[in-house]
Amino acid sequence: MASLILKPGREKSLLRRHPWVFSGAIGQLNGDPAPGATVDVRAADGAFLARAAYSPASQIRARVWTFDPDEAVDVEFFRRRLAAALARRATPGLAAASDAFRLVHAESDQIPGLVVDRYGDVLVLQVLTAGSEFWRETLADLLLELTGVRAIYERSDADVRELEGLQPRTGLLRGLVIDSRIVIQEYGLKFTVDIATGHKTGFYLDQRANRNRVGQLAAGRDVLNCFCYTGGFSIHAARGGAKSVVSVDTSADALVAGQENAALNGIQAEGLEWLEADVFTALRKFRDQNRSWDLIVLDPPKFAPTAAQAEKAARGYKDINRLAFKLLRPGGILTTFSCSGGIDAALFQKIVASAALDAGVEAQIVEYMAQGPDHPVSIHFPEGAYLKGLVCVRGGLVVAKR
Ligand code: SAH
Repeated sequence: MASLILKPGREKSLLRRHPWVFSGAIGQLNGDPAPGATVDVRAADGAFLARAAYSPASQIRARVWTFDPDEAVDVEFFRRRLAAALARRATPGLAAASDAFRLVHAESDQIPGLVVDRYGDVLVLQVLTAGSEFWRETLADLLLELTGVRAIYERSDADVRELEGLQPRTGLLRGLVIDSRIVIQEYGLKFTVDIATGHKTGFYLDQRANRNRVGQLAAGRDVLNCFCYTGGFSIHAARGGAKSVVSVDTSADALVAGQENAALNGIQAEGLEWLEADVFTALRKFRDQNRSWDLIVLDPPKFAPTAAQAEKAARGYKDINRLAFKLLRPGGILTTFSCSGGIDAALFQKIVASAALDAGVEAQIVEYMAQGPDHPVSIHFPEGAYLKGLVCVRGGLVVAKR
């Protein structure tokens, strides 16, 4: 088997079972492995460290399949890994809340580069790295066998594939022709998910429990849902007894889907306002119009995929949070999220604090939110904890508004 020999002293992160080998840590490559092929990773003294997928195009030159020198990477290996991932989903009773959830969360389920989401009896698969691309057919066969679903649809069209030297690919991978629009249920609400054209694999499954929680907080409140996509938080809020809900997104298609989702759940169109607008602009306009709300949700897209973009992203987060605090009535609730890998929970909290300071308001954090249990975090891969949320209650003004 081909092998990567690390530079002296560069074995530390692998000894802590972190699954990535960066190009700069590699002293020597023995053999000529194809992209995605399995290589042994060894310390400078030749000691075995891990068995990994080789990715010649990426700065993350290898991703670990196993740290066990006696474990072969073959069909049986992936059967064990997938079965373990499925078993983890059984424990927290996810199926009771929804028939749509993440079955495989890549590195966090010890299958780097593979994301699998379940929507009813269809799986949507995302292959993000050279290693998972190498095993794609095997993984599809095993997933079909282990889950008994009707079809597997591929959405390998995420930008990160480019870093691995892979072209985007989408389409039906297993099963017969299917309707790409699937109606899922989430805490008793219905949502139509378009697995062919929707964002990511079709739906933001990581926010399921937080949407439900916002529904519980919404009774009797005027709600503003920023970055609403297909209306997830809006419809939970409406069912929860919100007085009114304004939903803002730049995507016209998402707003149409949001209105359809409201109708699907028998929610009256009056009281719901759908606004196609840039949130940064809309919040300023609301401020100039002196509009205000009792509950605001901010769930923006990733402003900082990696730490390199953290500074610019921080300015974006601070801007929308400052404006939201200003639009919030005293006693109002701000539910604010970041899904940026480059901004950790502590930094996000600091950004929101400085937004409150600039808005001149007092606020208390009453709840911390995160991704749901179907998006587990490997204890050795803290990067997997990407979604953080704060529920803040606004107090009074502490300084005069500028
Ligand atoms: N809260 C949603 C998911 C939000 S994803 C849910 O629970 O399903 C982020 C959304 O922000 C996407 O729908 C995207 O179209 C939208 N978006 C991105 N940039 C935006 C901007 N500047 N203004 C308004 N919407 C934006």
